[in-house]
Amino acid sequence: METLRSPLLEVKGNIEVKRPLPKPPSRLPLSGSRLKRGPEQMEEALEPEKKRTRGLGTKIAPSRPRAALLTAVPQTQGQAAARTAPKKTGPRCPTAVATVLKNQKPGPAVPAQKPGRDVASGAEALRRGGRRAMTCLTLVPSVPFSAAAPPMVGGKKPSKRPAWDLKGQLCDRMAELKCCRERNQILDQENQQLRDQLREAQQQASTLGAERRTLEEELARVRVQAEQGQQELGRLSAQVLELEERLGTQEGLVQVLQREQLGLQEERRGLATRLEEQERRLQASEAALSDSQAEVASLRQEAAAQAVLLAEREDRLHGLEMERRRLHNQLQELKGNIRVFCRVRPVLPGEPTPNPGFLLFPGGPADPPTRLSLSRSDERRGTLSGAPAPPTRHDFSFDRVFPPGSRQDEVFEEIAMLVQSALDGYPVCIFAYGQTGSGKTFTMEGGPAGDPQVEGLIPRALRHLFSVAQELSGQGWTYSFVASYVEIYNETVRDLLATGTRKGQAGECEIRRAGPGSEELTVTNARYVPVSCEKEVQALLHLARQNRAVARTAQNERSSRSHSVFQLQISGEHAARGLQCIAPLSLVDLAGSERLDSGLALGPGERERLRETQSINSSLSTLGLVIMALSNKEPHVPYRNSKLTYLLQNSLGGSAKMLMFVNISPLEENVSESLNSLRFASKVNQCVIGTAQANKK
Ligand code: ADP
Ligand code: MG
Repeated sequence: METLRSPLLEVKGNIEVKRPLPKPPSRLPLSGSRLKRGPEQMEEALEPEKKRTRGLGTKIAPSRPRAALLTAVPQTQGQAAARTAPKKTGPRCPTAVATVLKNQKPGPAVPAQKPGRDVASGAEALRRGGRRAMTCLTLVPSVPFSAAAPPMVGGKKPSKRPAWDLKGQLCDRMAELKCCRERNQILDQENQQLRDQLREAQQQASTLGAERRTLEEELARVRVQAEQGQQELGRLSAQVLELEERLGTQEGLVQVLQREQLGLQEERRGLATRLEEQERRLQASEAALSDSQAEVASLRQEAAAQAVLLAEREDRLHGLEMERRRLHNQLQELKGNIRVFCRVRPVLPGEPTPNPGFLLFPGGPADPPTRLSLSRSDERRGTLSGAPAPPTRHDFSFDRVFPPGSRQDEVFEEIAMLVQSALDGYPVCIFAYGQTGSGKTFTMEGGPAGDPQVEGLIPRALRHLFSVAQELSGQGWTYSFVASYVEIYNETVRDLLATGTRKGQAGECEIRRAGPGSEELTVTNARYVPVSCEKEVQALLHLARQNRAVARTAQNERSSRSHSVFQLQISGEHAARGLQCIAPLSLVDLAGSERLDSGLALGPGERERLRETQSINSSLSTLGLVIMALSNKEPHVPYRNSKLTYLLQNSLGGSAKMLMFVNISPLEENVSESLNSLRFASKVNQCVIGTAQANKK
């Protein structure tokens, strides 16, 4: 770093440059003490000399040695010339005199009359004063020698006049006086020159004083600037330190950023590579796309052709479907619009095993059994010999007979086509008829829940319907199913799907027409639950079982004394062809068909039971009467004679397909009831109800 130059030095330098050299250079010694003096002090300094000079009238001793000096100075040729022209060097004389006067050491006064000694003392002065004295001496102006020297007489020094020679002495004194006057004149001139020089010096001094003040001001300014500079320097140094610290931090940051940058560059390279790869793939894809587009165009044409073909095939398929339905219906008609199946339950554990000939199922093993033979031994009848009469055989024939070992799926297989008719718009009604404990509920609902092997007709029928509806959806059919489940006990209707507060509110439900003029019947206050899957149906059956269990605690074995009616409203629509079909599927678990022996005495509980039985017998006989009336095509069908037939009005009759299961106990002790049931079923089986009509719109 450059060292700061002292402002003072600069100023001096400037001054040296600026100050013009004096012309001619002043011979006055410009020492500090002299400069500081004002013109007055200078005057005073010179005053004693003046006084001494003026007082030369009698004492001019100080000038003598100088004259002697002058004579003793060794002179060069130039100096000799100067002596011959004293006027030219005249102005320098006062300075020289002043210099000499100043430099000359005060010594004993030398008499003017002894120039020899003067010469000697001049030489001595030269020897002692050295070079400076020499220089001064060379500048001393020459006073006319004649004025300085005493008058010479004949080239000799005048001798001392005798005392009496007053005139001579007067002459001498006159000559001396004259000499003194001349000398005085010269000194006046010198004095005048000195005054001029003094004025000049004073002017210079004032100028220098002004310069000095200026310089001092400038110096002060420079000092202030220097201080400011120092402060600025300090501040800048602090800034530099701070910047260096920040630079350190920034460098760390820069390193981190550089590392990040390297990472990003690497990533960028990777991305660029991937981009290139993607672009290559894109180009390949575009090429493939253009190929595909061409292919799509051709495929579209093909698809259009296929669509036309498909429409044609759909038309054909629809025609075939309608034909299938027609043939299906024809087949059902051929089988009879009312069919009767007989099912004999197995002997349960703990029950007595019947005689081997008690129940027989005639027919070959290849054909499905349709006949049943029941033998009954009448103990009251006896032979003439007193031996028991041989048992009487009772043969029955039905559309199908299921022996005790028949499985649930076998039974359902026989009715699956009938159930499917409901999807085609034919009302379907399936009953389970028989005495209590003959297996009606097992057939309709199934055995213990959770065992798929013993699932009854209701869950199997619904699963089948859902499945076929799903298949038909491919042909444009849309189906919806709404389920209800009610119980008819002593001619009162109760909702088996009731939940919450509605549970146990039996008797509040009434069978009503859905609307004025409508043939559709509905049960007020009963839940109609849309179902679309097997799980929902299982939930409903579970709920119905629970509701029955609640009632059972209130009234003993009520379930066996009531009819349970599960109904499913099936609605199908083919929107494209504007077709609709609506039909109910009714699955009925009838009350026990057993009769009370009217000859027995009746207790209070039995009277109630008699009332129940009469009610049951009434509704079951009404059902028989309705079927008979339909079979005989009577104008009046007594539907309204019982709640059961009224509720099933739309599921019975001309357009309906009916199936009755007659459930039989395998036990010999139940033979009477079994015969009653079989007789009732046989009557029904003999009925032929007119051609069924699908409910199509
Ligand atoms: P119902 O409803 O006619 O009064 P249930 O269906 O309650 O008769 O049957 C009475 C008993 O016989 C039940 O325990 C039932 O499990 C059983 N049962 C009925 N039919 C069958 C069958 N086909 N296989 C096995 N057990 C049966
Ligand atoms: Mg039952």
